[in-house]
Amino acid sequence: MSSQTASCSCGQLRIEVEGEPQGIGVCHCFACQRRTGSVFAALASYATPFKVSGVATEYVRIGDQGAKFIFRFCPVCGTTVFHTEEGDDESVSVAVGAFSDSGFPPPQVSVYDSRRHPWVCLPPGIKTFEKDPV
Ligand SMILES: [Zn+2]
Ligand SMILES: [Zn+2]
Repeated sequence: MSSQTASCSCGQLRIEVEGEPQGIGVCHCFACQRRTGSVFAALASYATPFKVSGVATEYVRIGDQGAKFIFRFCPVCGTTVFHTEEGDDESVSVAVGAFSDSGFPPPQVSVYDSRRHPWVCLPPGIKTFEKDPV
């Protein structure tokens, strides 16, 4: 199985994941917009195990459905590299941009479409949800 490494902007914090992503999605919610500084977040989820190197600071955010998301970001450059959900020890969500791979497969799911900037166009065939589908 192949592994892929995602890294923060300065290279201090890295995560190595195994195999293909279980799912790839974009989120247009305001929390993701603020967190990334971009107008949407792109995330790929991977099955455990994963390997982290470097130091990460944790930031916990409670989602609209009550889920506790634990974001890990680099204390040096501030990039959010990955997050996990409390109670879910089987997967990790990694920021797609942290892979520095413009050939990364496109997202299959778009959530919080109600917050999407109207100029952001989505790939054909993508599933969209007004909010969080969970
Ligand atoms: Zn960094
Ligand atoms: Zn979001």
